[in-house]
Amino acid sequence: MFDLSKLVNLNYLMLKYSQNKKELNNVIINYHPQNIDNYYQDVLPTKLTIAEFILNDEIKKNIENDLKNIFDKIKSNLFQTKKQVANLENIDIKKKKKYIPQDKIDDLLKQIMKSIPEKAFIIKTDNISMVLTQYYKIKQELGDLNNIDNKLVFKPKTIMYDVLSTVYNIEKDINKANNYAQEKFIKPFKVDLYGQSNRDFLKNAYYDPISNKLVLGSVFNLSTQEVINASNDTDVVIHELGHKLLDNLRPGYIDNRFHFESGAVHEAFGDIMAFLSAASDPNIQKYIQDNKIDLTKTNILSQIAEYFGKTIYTNIKQTKELLNNNPYMLPDELSKIKDERPVRDISESFEYKKYSDLKKEEKEVHLQSKSLSNAFYKAFINFYNDNKDKYSLNEVVDRFYNIFIKGTKISNPATTTIPEFMKSIIIADILFNNSQLTSYLVKSANENKIFQNLNINDILNEINNSRNLKVGDLYSILNKQNNDANKFKEELKEAILKILKNYSLDFDYLSIDDISVSIVPGFNGGINIELTYRYPKSIKLKSKDYPVYGGGIFVFDNKMNLIYSYIEKINEQKVKDMQDYANIIYK
Ligand SMILES: [Zn+2]
Repeated sequence: MFDLSKLVNLNYLMLKYSQNKKELNNVIINYHPQNIDNYYQDVLPTKLTIAEFILNDEIKKNIENDLKNIFDKIKSNLFQTKKQVANLENIDIKKKKKYIPQDKIDDLLKQIMKSIPEKAFIIKTDNISMVLTQYYKIKQELGDLNNIDNKLVFKPKTIMYDVLSTVYNIEKDINKANNYAQEKFIKPFKVDLYGQSNRDFLKNAYYDPISNKLVLGSVFNLSTQEVINASNDTDVVIHELGHKLLDNLRPGYIDNRFHFESGAVHEAFGDIMAFLSAASDPNIQKYIQDNKIDLTKTNILSQIAEYFGKTIYTNIKQTKELLNNNPYMLPDELSKIKDERPVRDISESFEYKKYSDLKKEEKEVHLQSKSLSNAFYKAFINFYNDNKDKYSLNEVVDRFYNIFIKGTKISNPATTTIPEFMKSIIIADILFNNSQLTSYLVKSANENKIFQNLNINDILNEINNSRNLKVGDLYSILNKQNNDANKFKEELKEAILKILKNYSLDFDYLSIDDISVSIVPGFNGGINIELTYRYPKSIKLKSKDYPVYGGGIFVFDNKMNLIYSYIEKINEQKVKDMQDYANIIYK
């Protein structure tokens, strides 16, 4: 039996029943990251068509009728004696001369109907090089003020502009992050620009580590009757990209999903990246300058996802549905919402509390992320305001972004708390940026109770003490010519195990199989050694055991001096907290 579904050009039918059809001449795009997606492979000569397909009951009926007609034509054609080629605009029946029983056709009809996505953008084009030309134009427009007549361009005007500016923003940020990390650490990933591949229309944007995809969903604004795509909002795009970047640098944070604060750091990471990205946008810089914006109060930089938030917060019913599984705020806070507003505002002060001090309804990662993102934001703004005559906003972004990525690279590889993470950013500033930002970061972290009146000397002492760790055995292994990769790894692990056991009696229980070690590029020609170890206790969920991991990091400069080390001590409370959070999220 031949594949009947191949006879039906579903793309044609979807386009026929699409709305908001835009036919554009001389502007052609064929960009879609999931090229495997059949709906984007069709080709139409000389022009570009973009259309929005939304499957409703009426369209379902229409398509079903069309399909029935097509199949009837095929059937009648099968009994024709004359050799002929039928060109029925959407079928090709040249070689098909077999009898097809009706029940097979009914079956197929059902299958095809099932396979139609609820929402899709249909893009047809014939010229990929034109797409690239267009992409360069958008790059210019976003990157160069001269071309845009003083207009803000962060809110795109067309679907195509959307697609291209999203790709541009992602590309720009990845280049920066790789640069600061001094390592190309970002692995390839997919971007689903409209959430259609997962049928996630009318869903929030998210990063899916399993399919390695940023999904930028869409939301329908009831009051304006507009569909707003998450890819319209650079904040949303960069926030999701932040999850992806952090997951590549610190996969442990998502792997150990019962560790609440690792999740909160993930959310803060995305928001911090989003605001740094906005602050480096020349259009936004000009806007801030021209309008003399006070950056200490709520403003265009501090408001995260202002465009997307408009839709979310205009429609309370839908908001509640959206927030049901992925809440951004407490239920009583939600009930107060009346206006359009950004999803989060990181200029609002927010105090850190230990996990064990949080009430049950406060145990939400986006909410608790705000102590970290606000501390980082305050340090940024205070530094900028104090150094306005010395540095442009761009130069300040450069400094903060740099130590933000470097700090991440020297953070605990297994899990992290907000204070731990903040401290690694400060330590990166001390080690790699002459402590230029340290006093600002320490001050705002103390204000937000991330630290209990910590002072800079405490941190300097900690760094100095960490250099005394006895790592002599590592040198002989690293210096030895060893061509056997497996043997090298074993020797390295044994040396690390010995270091751990010397470090604390708590590690007596550890065996070689309980640890994993990796060597990654460090800074300025040095190396970092990252380690994770298994805790003696695990957590239990539905009679299944989930291991708990701790981590450590050794930072060597290019002369192989140990310039910083950190080893997480066994912490009973961590296991208790993870057990509690596991019970909450898998109740
Ligand atoms: Zn997020």
